[in-house]
Amino acid sequence: MSRVGITPAPSARLLILQPTPFCNIDCDYCYLPDRNATQRMSMETVRLAAQRLLDDGLAGAELTVVWHAGEPLAVPVDYYRQAFEIVHRVLGPDSRVTHAIQTNATLIDPTWCELFKQHAVRIGVSIDGPAELHDLHRRTRRGRGTHARVMQGLQQLREHDIAFHAIAVVTRDTLAHADAFFDFFLDNGIHDVGCNFDEAEGKHAHSSLVGRETAHAAFLQRLLQRSIVSDGRVVVRELASAWQLVAEPLPQYAWRGRHWPDNAQVMPLALISVTWNGDFSTFSPELLGHRSDEFGDFILGNVTDGSYVEALQSQHMQRLWSAVSAGVEACERQCSYFAYCGGGAPANKWFENGDLASTETLYCRSMIQRPFDIVLDRLERERTAAAHIEGAYATGVCNLPGPEMA
Ligand code: SF4
Repeated sequence: MSRVGITPAPSARLLILQPTPFCNIDCDYCYLPDRNATQRMSMETVRLAAQRLLDDGLAGAELTVVWHAGEPLAVPVDYYRQAFEIVHRVLGPDSRVTHAIQTNATLIDPTWCELFKQHAVRIGVSIDGPAELHDLHRRTRRGRGTHARVMQGLQQLREHDIAFHAIAVVTRDTLAHADAFFDFFLDNGIHDVGCNFDEAEGKHAHSSLVGRETAHAAFLQRLLQRSIVSDGRVVVRELASAWQLVAEPLPQYAWRGRHWPDNAQVMPLALISVTWNGDFSTFSPELLGHRSDEFGDFILGNVTDGSYVEALQSQHMQRLWSAVSAGVEACERQCSYFAYCGGGAPANKWFENGDLASTETLYCRSMIQRPFDIVLDRLERERTAAAHIEGAYATGVCNLPGPEMA
């Protein structure tokens, strides 16, 4: 049994560091509360965020450090040269660390590409498909579309032979254009595509997908059809995950005599998010920076003051953990998808239902339930599809992060 009380003993899967809250563009569906703020995480905070992980025994053999929550390339290249060196010095002897950056790609130039290559950084590019769709929402502060600049960034990545995946926000505008959306990724040789279906989160309080669930199903069905026909040249993360889950449900972990499907968003310290000033939280990364009457600002501590595991003992954390666990228990009682989901995303339960202990959300219907149903239905109806889907998806899924990296 681990100090966290979970068996097998957990290690952190993602350490999510916010180099700056600032973003150089102004997408209209962004949930981040402070994206005009220009502070930076100090190198001492980077060191402490890594050191606490080591001291708490949470640094496993493999660890991904994600630089996120603001535009990570809004700080200079040299920032990362120093930061990577510090992380390597602290964690390198114990863990194989992979750095991952989710970027809007508008600032990528040859100097960034050198850094990405030198450190084998995993790059995710936020792009919503063709310009007509992308520029509806992903704009500069002056209201101009960013698609052309993103394409220049992608060109830089290609010229430097740097692999990348794409994450697209799918809004109501996208649903009627499944073919144009798919063709964009196919024509540009982008193999791995994650769909973040427009979520109601934080400042972005209303999802454009509300009331459009039939159109969402048709969109997913079309993507699956196109993906099969393309022989898996484009693999969609949500469908790939569903395929994996049909083939093999989630592994389980034990906590207080319960056996639950593995879901990093409901397991304390599996995901650790640290803001630029060292405040940290766990469970869904999107909770950090938001406020509730019951749980304050979801901050559990600061890396300057104490360890991650110590923070688990605080009343604040115990209350938060109880509410998240009550949500998992409710999902277990009520939801037939529980074995494939493990209780969903606390942030979406909070933002949509105002209750961490609640169950179903628009998010889980669009990201989990419906992709699962569509893949399963296809497999049941067409035996030949099974072979195609297997060929297309069984190898593609591991190239993409989960939705918590959106
Ligand atoms: S699909 Fe939704 S309701 Fe079902 S277990 Fe997951 S979060 Fe809970």
